[in-house]
Order: sequence, then C-alpha cells, then structure tokens
Amino acid sequence: MKVPSRLPVSTSRGDVLLCEVFGPTIQGEGPSAGQVASFLRTGGCNLACDSCDTPYSWDWRRFSRAEQTRRVPAQDVAAEILRHPGELVIVTGGEPMMQQSRLAPAAALLAAAGRRIEVETNGTIAPACGAFDQHVALYVVSPKLTHMGMPERRRIRPEVLAAFQASGRAVFKFVLDGPQDVDELAALQDRHGLGPVWVMPQATTAAAVTRGMRALADAAIERGWNISPRLHVLLWEDERGR
Ligand code: SF4
Repeated sequence: MKVPSRLPVSTSRGDVLLCEVFGPTIQGEGPSAGQVASFLRTGGCNLACDSCDTPYSWDWRRFSRAEQTRRVPAQDVAAEILRHPGELVIVTGGEPMMQQSRLAPAAALLAAAGRRIEVETNGTIAPACGAFDQHVALYVVSPKLTHMGMPERRRIRPEVLAAFQASGRAVFKFVLDGPQDVDELAALQDRHGLGPVWVMPQATTAAAVTRGMRALADAAIERGWNISPRLHVLLWEDERGR
C-alpha cells in the first residue's frame, strides 16, 4: 500500500518523507515476530543492498520517487497510524534513522497514545535526536554482510554499532544467504560484542524461508543465536503492504 491519498501532501523538507503506512498486520521478523503491528515505512536509504526487499522505498533509478513517496506532516503520519488497532508500531524503511528529527513529533504522539515503537535500522546512523530516541522502545539493528554487495567501510560502522549496543534497547538481526555466512557473522559479533542476535534467511517465498531456516538452525543453536522466521512471507509470499 502506498501513502494513503487522504493524507495531506507537504513540500516542507521538515516533514516526513513517507513511503507507505500499512496495517494492522503482523510483524513477521525478529523478536516481536507474530505480534499485531502497524508499519510506517520512510523513503530513502543511505545504503544500496543487492538483495534489498524494499527497493521501491529508495532506488530512484528503478522506481519513481514522486510515485513512491510523499512528504507528510508528522502529526498526520501519527493520526494515520492511530487509525489502526494494536499497540506495536514498526518504523522501518528505507533507512528511518535518516529522518530522526522529522519523525520525532510522530513518535511523541504515538507514545502518548500508548503505542510501543520499534525502529528497524541498518545500523549505520546512530541515535542523535533525543526527542525521537526517548520514545523508541527497541532498535532492531540489521548490519549488512558481504553478500549484500557493498564495501565493509560503508555497511559496518563500529562506533554506531557501539552506540546501539550501549543503548540497552537494541537487538541485532542478520539476514544470511546461507550457512556460508555463519563464520562472517560470528567474527563480526566477536569483534563488536553484539547481542542478542537474531538470524533469518534471505528469502522471498514461503518454500525458501522454510529451506533457509532449516539450513541455519543447527549453526544458530550452537552459537546461541535466535532464529527469526519471515512470517509475512510464509503467509502472503512477497505481497506488498502485508
Ligand atoms: S539498508 Fe535496508 S532498505 Fe536500505 S538498501 Fe539495504 S536492505 Fe534495502
């Protein structure tokens, strides 16, 4: 689902660059998998992963920025989310940490209404806006491994990972292409002291999710990593807005 047409359009660069709002649905991944949730997806990303499953939110060579995103005042974003039942709000992207100050008023309104805010981030931009950060219950940090196709200096920022770890409100979720990525993740975890860790397979079909989880299970258990499904893929394959 793209940005609902009832939301007002803004030209102010201080407003949220929004890709889509959808829900109620379920969170399919990570520590809150299975919980009823609403999603707020921001537009734009500072990385360019080979296997990105939401390129429409940032890849303006393949998608139209004008069609896929709109600027929307933060209070209208919050009002749209509050139309949905359920406590959990997932702020995702793109890369939502690029818009911390723009998102802060929406986060304040959602928190005041009793919503629990979890932010999904690629882990390259540290929390830098207290007005946003104070309302975030959990950061689900997903650093990218070599198979995502970018140099390490671009996708791994040690000082940012340290800031998330020190927050006490972060978990680390890794997409693995297969068992061949286990050693790279283990070395990254050791080097940066990351935890707790969730691993999940790179997969966009239900059959591939099942196959990928089976391939990762033993190695994950051996290392004390949690395994994440992709419940939305198991239920609805790669249907957008579910
Ligand atoms: S960081 Fe996330 S949204 Fe950005 S390109 Fe990579 S997978 Fe896609």
